[in-house]
Amino acid sequence: MSGTRDIRCICGASAFDTIFTYLEAPAGEVKFDFGPGPYRREILRCRNCGHFLSVHDIDMKELYGGHYVNSTYGSDGLRAAFARINALATVRSDNVGRVERVTEFVSAYFKGRGVGFAPKVLDIGSGLCVFLYRLHELTGWPCTALDPDPRAVEHAKTEAGVQAVCADFMQADGLGRFDLITLNKVIEHVLDPVAMLARAAGNLNDGALVYVEVPDGEAAMAEGSGREEFFIDHHHVFSLTSFKICAQNSGFEVHALERLREPSAKFTLRAFLTRPPSIS
Ligand SMILES: [Zn+2]
Repeated sequence: MSGTRDIRCICGASAFDTIFTYLEAPAGEVKFDFGPGPYRREILRCRNCGHFLSVHDIDMKELYGGHYVNSTYGSDGLRAAFARINALATVRSDNVGRVERVTEFVSAYFKGRGVGFAPKVLDIGSGLCVFLYRLHELTGWPCTALDPDPRAVEHAKTEAGVQAVCADFMQADGLGRFDLITLNKVIEHVLDPVAMLARAAGNLNDGALVYVEVPDGEAAMAEGSGREEFFIDHHHVFSLTSFKICAQNSGFEVHALERLREPSAKFTLRAFLTRPPSIS
C-alpha cells in the first residue's frame, strides 16, 4: 500500500505485522459511498504495543458531516433507531451497562463534593444519544451532546431532551468546562486519537473525569477478520497497552481499565481518565 512504510503507531514505533488484508468490504460493514476505485485495506499490528491500524487509500474526509448518519441509520432513521435501542431489554443493551458503570464510578468519585453536586456532562460524538438520554433520566445531571451531524443534534434536543451542540469537536470553540466528558466508541474513528483526548483536557474543570470506550482488537482478532471492531470506520483498534499509551500521551492517568464483551457482542475496553494534579 502506498505510504505504508511512513506509518507510525500512537506509541511512536513504526514496525508492524499485517494481520488482515481485505480486497472487498467484509459482510456487515456499512456501505459508504467512497466513489470509484478498488476496495483494498489492511489491518496492521504494532510490534511494540499491539495497537491495530486500518490502512487504505479510500477518501473518508466528509464521512461524519452527514454521510455517516445516512449510511448507518438511513436519512430518516435516527428516531426509529433510538426507539428500537431504547426498547432493548436490559440484558441485551450495551447502554444499560454503560450507564450503570458511569453512574457508579462517577458518583463515588465525586462523593466528597456533597449530595447536591451534579456533575456537568459533555458527550462527544453523541450519535443516537441513547447513552446520554438514559444517564440524564437516571441522574438528572446537566447533560450536553455534541455531534457534527445537524440531524443528530436536533434529535438529541427533541427526542433525548438534552442540551446539544453541532460541531466538529476538534474545531469547536467556547464549549465551556465540564466535570465529566464521555467518548463512547469515538476516538477510534479519528486519525489522531491522542490529539482528540488532549483537546478534551481543555474542556475539563479541576478534578474532572473522562470516560472512554474503544474497540478491543486483542480480543476481537481471535474471531477473525470479519469482526466489526476492524470495520473501515475505525482507523484505530486498541490493545490494553495501546489504550493506556494513548491516554498517557494525551496527558491523562488511567483508572479502572477494563476489558468486556458487551451484550451486542462487541469487544470493548473502557476506562476513566484524570489529569495528574501537577498539570491540572
Ligand atoms: Zn504501538
